[in-house]
Amino acid sequence: MTDKIKIFDTTLRDGEQAPGFSMNKEEKLGFAHQLELLGVDVIEAGFPVASRDDFEAVESIAKSLKTTEVCGLARCHSGDIDAALMATEKAKKPRIHVFIATSDIHLEYKLKISRDEAIKKAVEAIRQCKKHCDRVDFSPEDAGRSDRDFLVEILSEAIKAGADTLNIPDTVGYLSPAEFGDLILYLNNNVPGIKNCIISTHCHNDLGMAVANSLSGALNGARQIECTINGIGERAGNAAMEEVVMAIKTRPELFKARTGINTPLLLKTSRMLSSITGQHVQINKAIVGDNAFAHEAGIHQHGLLKNKFTYEIMKPDDVGWNETNFVLGKHSGRNAVLDRLNKLGIKIAEADVAAFMMKFKDLADGKKHIYDDDLILLTKDKNEEMYYAIKEMKVEAQTGKKATATIKLKAGGDVIEGKATGNGSVDAVYNAIIKVTGFEGVLTKFNVDAISPQKDAIANANIGWLIDDVEIRGRGTSTDTVTAIANALIDVVNRYRIQQQHEEGLSGV
Ligand SMILES: [Zn+2]
Repeated sequence: MTDKIKIFDTTLRDGEQAPGFSMNKEEKLGFAHQLELLGVDVIEAGFPVASRDDFEAVESIAKSLKTTEVCGLARCHSGDIDAALMATEKAKKPRIHVFIATSDIHLEYKLKISRDEAIKKAVEAIRQCKKHCDRVDFSPEDAGRSDRDFLVEILSEAIKAGADTLNIPDTVGYLSPAEFGDLILYLNNNVPGIKNCIISTHCHNDLGMAVANSLSGALNGARQIECTINGIGERAGNAAMEEVVMAIKTRPELFKARTGINTPLLLKTSRMLSSITGQHVQINKAIVGDNAFAHEAGIHQHGLLKNKFTYEIMKPDDVGWNETNFVLGKHSGRNAVLDRLNKLGIKIAEADVAAFMMKFKDLADGKKHIYDDDLILLTKDKNEEMYYAIKEMKVEAQTGKKATATIKLKAGGDVIEGKATGNGSVDAVYNAIIKVTGFEGVLTKFNVDAISPQKDAIANANIGWLIDDVEIRGRGTSTDTVTAIANALIDVVNRYRIQQQHEEGLSGV
């Protein structure tokens, strides 16, 4: 019987807070459902005190997941803990994760408190959590650069106060695998009462060692790994879940442990995250990159034909490669489409099937092959519910002349329209949208790519827009590139409008 290593996913918290990876509430909820299908043990759904959006996202995930623990992050402040307790209270298995920095540099310059005060705050915070929630993780932030004896002291007090999981973060990605493993072993051997707790790892990738450090932790007694899909996270990111999980699965004799991850869903989960955030993984990324199982070099192919294990240590099927590139088209019927959605883990309410099939047929009319990514995108297409949406758009562009865009927008129950010129089609369309909506700001990021590699692929536009000193990210898709770019700005305008409403609501409280 091998030990189980719990997988604690923090894609929606540590990952989502990194620039370029923000998601709205619906996207977070959809992704949380996918993580539950994938079989993760804990989902850190957000930092509830950070914003109303974060709170509501954690709350909706807590209410709707069936088997996975749902965790909220909190500093050792009673207001943070109240928010985390409230946001997770409806979860089948709620969990609170409290943290306080323990390295001297953080204590002195960030928190400006002594070691004794840090212990006192941690103990008070854990006790506050324990009054309402059985499951409590405690993290000594920047443990990688903290004094070991002080770590032993604060962790033993945390255990006495009721923490059941001790998460050891290498917050700045500083340690080497040997050092991190040694730290876990030291704590495992020296913290009184630790044998009744789970030791967890949280490793950052600043020196490219997050996965190696996490696995070294597991080899030295850690039984939970905090990680994210595609390794997203602050700065260079976190340990990539797909790599951690496949390393443990591929080398059972080494790790003598297993995870509960349903590995054939890894690729799909990775692609889903890319499609939500518009950030693709590099083609040579382990496990989920396009080249991860490609064997183009002649000598490799020759070897593979004789025995595939000559160059292949994992089966592509084990991470879901056989399931990709399933193609639907305009002759695909309702059953085929629903069956495919089912395999992708997406359920559509009976009442919404007819409307979904209309959207599918519309797309199939303009695009010959409908891939999984296209389908996933279609299920998320909620334009009609948004305040602003494009009804009609006409762009005239000619070499050497200014482009002209005429646009008609749905604005709530009304229709507004206008015309503008610009230096090229995109500039003209953006000027037209700004003119009719009265929205301001400056374009700060601009990226367009294709969802699938064909020439009739769906264009995927991601933009950043700076307004009131805050960057709002927007995303738009369409079979037409300029329309995709226009939709991305409309997305920004809608997000800004929602944000304004929230702020008005908050100021009244
Ligand atoms: Zn982190």
